[in-house]
Amino acid sequence: MINTISREYICENITRDETGELCFAGLPLSPLARTYGTPLYLYDEDRIRERCRTYREAMQKAFGDGGRVLYASKAASFRRLYEIMREEDLGVDVVSCGEICTANAAGFPLENAYFHSNNKTDADIVYAMEHGVGYFVVDNEEELYAIDRIGGERGIRQKVLLRLTPGIDPHTYAAVATGKVDSKFGSAIETGQAEAITDVALSLANVNLCGFHCHVGSQVFEADVFLRTANVMLTFVAHIYQTRGYLATQLDIGGGIGVRYTKEQPTPDIAACIAEIGAYIKERAHELSLPLPTILLEPGRSLVADAGLTLYTVGTVKHIPGYKTYVSVDGGMTDNPRFALYGAPYTILPVAAEAGDGATPCSVVGRCCESGDILQENVPLPPMRRGDLLACLTTGAYHYSMASNYNRIPRPPVVMIKNKTAQLVIRRETVEDLLHLEV
Ligand SMILES: *Cc1c(COP(=O)(O)O)cnc(C)c1O
Repeated sequence: MINTISREYICENITRDETGELCFAGLPLSPLARTYGTPLYLYDEDRIRERCRTYREAMQKAFGDGGRVLYASKAASFRRLYEIMREEDLGVDVVSCGEICTANAAGFPLENAYFHSNNKTDADIVYAMEHGVGYFVVDNEEELYAIDRIGGERGIRQKVLLRLTPGIDPHTYAAVATGKVDSKFGSAIETGQAEAITDVALSLANVNLCGFHCHVGSQVFEADVFLRTANVMLTFVAHIYQTRGYLATQLDIGGGIGVRYTKEQPTPDIAACIAEIGAYIKERAHELSLPLPTILLEPGRSLVADAGLTLYTVGTVKHIPGYKTYVSVDGGMTDNPRFALYGAPYTILPVAAEAGDGATPCSVVGRCCESGDILQENVPLPPMRRGDLLACLTTGAYHYSMASNYNRIPRPPVVMIKNKTAQLVIRRETVEDLLHLEV
């Protein structure tokens, strides 16, 4: 288990003021609801920066200049976030032309971007090369040949990492486990495909192999998972060095450190976890007589998740005698599909005051025409009335970026709070916006 920090609330940016009202990043929530409307995505910029620094400082301590942190920007991708990552001196992972375009629009230096995806189209490859994306994280052999061909046409010798599957089961949800041999991502070490793709990469004139990558999954709470992963990867790097004379200069061991969504879950101590990983990697590299490559970590969720909160207004409240109480809110699976996708746990709190002793377990549901449009079951709530506010915590990762327009519902705005000052960074989508694409 990763060392943990104990805390009463999910995260220290959640508090209640003297009237009992819930506050986020130091601001009471009801005035924000009045100003910006609901549903509303809120971000705590100070928290994001604090997390970036925790990662960067821990990597610096562990590896000196030989450590690097990349933000896996699929977790939340909009201009302001890339600006923060640039200012905090992190690299980024991108997975599509849309993310590349957004990072570019934010002035993010794309030479520090790593382009992922298990299926990059020729158009994606051209777009990324023309925008000067620093590295491609290559998933498969077919992609290598495409990069070599397209790079050749443009006089580009593209820097790449190869994505490998180390055969590690991270003991997380099946939907977010990616490091097992049977995965749509990467080339497996166990089957010999990793070695084969390395040979191909080394043989191609327009491919500049810089090292290897893996990512075994998300919501990982055991440091041991990273140690076992690092062991498999370092052993592979040493094997390639011994048999091919090729020395990797970069080794990316992925992201995935877990996040606390409910009180029952631990708060991972990121600095302690990285210190443990660092000590292990240095010892293992020494045992293998391997010059240490630059070590990369690529967290997404743990940089931004608890820096986010979603605010909703309650509408219909339905008691079904002998069954349960449904509390409907003005959002749902369109702004948070994660319970519908894989039963993700959340903490949902009443904004006005603590739930107290009279609380009853309720199903908090969305407004979509879909029975599965549930945000969470068994949420202890006081009697709720139309117009009351609810806050869903820890929604900074995989919410705005997963939002949809199902049922023609416009997406909520994003408001960033910095030093107790709120600023709109993405306006609320309107129904007219939805018509704009129709010709
Ligand atoms: C999603 C992803 C990450 C980040 O995972 P988190 O759980 O958000 O930290 C890192 N690397 C790759 C390749 C990913 O696909």
